[in-house]
Amino acid sequence: METLYRGMTAYRQGAFNSKDLLVIDGRFVEFSRFRERDPFRKTVQLGGLYVFPGFVDVHVHLREPGFSYKETIRTGTLAAARGGFAHVCAMPNLNPVPDGEENLKQELDLIGRGALVKVYPYGAITAGELGKRLSAMEEISGRVVAFSDDGRGVQSEELMRAAMLKAKKLGKIIAAHCEDETYINGIKAHSESGAAPNSSCGLPAESEWRQLERDLRLVRETGCAYHMCHVSTKESVALLRRAKAEGLDVTCETAPHYLMLDDKDIKDEGRFKMNPPIRSEEDRLALIEGIADGTIDMIATDHAPHAEKEKSGGLAGSLNGVVGLETAFPVLYTGLVKTGIIGLGALIDLLHTNPSERFEIGAGIAPGKPADFTVFDLREEYTVAPEEFASMGRSTPFEGMRVWGKCLMTVVDGKTVWDCMPRGKENE
Ligand SMILES: [Zn+2]
Repeated sequence: METLYRGMTAYRQGAFNSKDLLVIDGRFVEFSRFRERDPFRKTVQLGGLYVFPGFVDVHVHLREPGFSYKETIRTGTLAAARGGFAHVCAMPNLNPVPDGEENLKQELDLIGRGALVKVYPYGAITAGELGKRLSAMEEISGRVVAFSDDGRGVQSEELMRAAMLKAKKLGKIIAAHCEDETYINGIKAHSESGAAPNSSCGLPAESEWRQLERDLRLVRETGCAYHMCHVSTKESVALLRRAKAEGLDVTCETAPHYLMLDDKDIKDEGRFKMNPPIRSEEDRLALIEGIADGTIDMIATDHAPHAEKEKSGGLAGSLNGVVGLETAFPVLYTGLVKTGIIGLGALIDLLHTNPSERFEIGAGIAPGKPADFTVFDLREEYTVAPEEFASMGRSTPFEGMRVWGKCLMTVVDGKTVWDCMPRGKENE
């Protein structure tokens, strides 16, 4: 099967160019200017549009097995495709938790049956994500992208040290949800920096960066490859900047809502409730600075769908987590690129190049690689409308926002998994 995609501007290997893309049997074959009359079986005209390598989201919750009333592998990966993501890494707070061969197999079977994009499961750091003893890390190491207990911090220093030593031996990354529970709910909810803790959520900045500080000490000691999930505080950005300067094997992600919103935007609605919480303007600006100077390596969505009744109790009565796959690119393009904070290429590096490299996904637009890419119309402006989401989760702090950049098509292994191209652009 041969398909020629032509007329677009494509981002590959760090630059934009306007060559046509030839895909044969699910792989990129050639980039060139093809003559109009070349007898390709199928030609897709993408004039005026942008082609990006399929985005890589290293932090999503697909909710299966165990919570299919919130999301399924099918709906979650359709949401990914609709947002331009060809690769997603699925967090392990499932039932059962993928903490050994047997449990992981259940998840992999569901992925095999339902996934529309490529899904890479995380293995749990601790058995059942209970923080008491290590998971069967060796047993599952070959089939997980990395190890994480996302949703909770690993409270025991001893256990985290043991996890890092084992991950180091296995050549795997520890992806840490940093949250020191001794700082939660006002127990130590003072702030040394003088900034007010986010009282509506009871999750002060210290709970995040104190645990990061501990982890960085353990990374220095063990040499483990470490990735910090959803950075939200200015102190964390500063700690990570120093750790990188020191040469530690450390990367991190933040999420669109921490970059675009601050606590003045929070309303008493479930769609503003997530962990970590949206913080102060000072924190937000520190994150932007971290994006601009490379301290923050990638942007992940922390897509965390819930049922409507679980998100309808305001800030106090709703579960943590918002959806993000279908809004990430337009929100970031509108908020970071259209405003001139970063260039379009830099945004694609944050959503594709850097996560692909760090987590060894090996994706990209290059001859011989699987044809995983996405097509956007950057001229299109529209309003974020959760009722149109493919995800079963509808809670987003970006509801009603005017955004630019619409995903028209996503292709995985040469197969179109999302398509809302206006009719007449494609000719067989
Ligand atoms: Zn988390």
